[in-house]
Amino acid sequence: MRTALYPGSFDPITNGHVDIIERALKLFDKLYVVISINPDKKTLFSAEERADILRHVLANHSQIEVIENTVLTVQKAKELKASHIVRGLRALTDFDYEFQLTNANRVLDKTIDTVFFMTDNRHAFLSSSAVKEIARFGGEIKEFLPPYAATKMREKMK
Ligand code: ADP
Repeated sequence: MRTALYPGSFDPITNGHVDIIERALKLFDKLYVVISINPDKKTLFSAEERADILRHVLANHSQIEVIENTVLTVQKAKELKASHIVRGLRALTDFDYEFQLTNANRVLDKTIDTVFFMTDNRHAFLSSSAVKEIARFGGEIKEFLPPYAATKMREKMK
C-alpha cells in the first residue's frame, strides 16, 4: 500500500489544497492530511476548527485521514509508515521555501521522499492568507474555498 502524508497549516483549506489532494489520490492508496501544529504561527482557525473543516470538505474520500501533528513531519511519516510527503507548488515563490524544507527533511530522514504536484493555473496565486485578507474586507470568497470552508470563514469574520 502506498501511503503519503500531506502536511500544512490549512488555515483554512482552499481549492488549491483540494487540487493537490485530488492529484495525490491518483498516486497513493492512503493519504494523511496533516495539520502541522506550530505554536509560533498565529492562525485564524484553531487546530480543532481546521480539522473540522478538513473532515467535512474531504468526507467523500475514504482513503483520506485528517490528523493533527505536533512532532517533526518526517517523524510522523515514519510512525504512520508513509513513504512520501506531498507538497504543492504554485507560482515561483514556493520554490525556495519548499527546496529548503525538502533538503532539511532529507537530512533528517533520507528514506522519506517529498513529491510535488503543480496546481492548476486557476489556483496558482491562491493562498489561505490572501483569502483571509479578502474575507476581512468583506470580499467574495466563494471562488477560492470549498463551500463549508467559506461558510466557516464568513462566520469567523462576523
Ligand atoms: P504551510 O504553512 O506548510 O505552507 P499551507 O497550508 O499554506 O501550509 O500549504 C501546505 C502546502 O500546500 C504547501 O506545499 C503549499 O505550497 C501548498 N499550497 C497552498 N496553497 C496552494 C495552492 N493554491 N495550490 C497548490 N498548492 C498550494
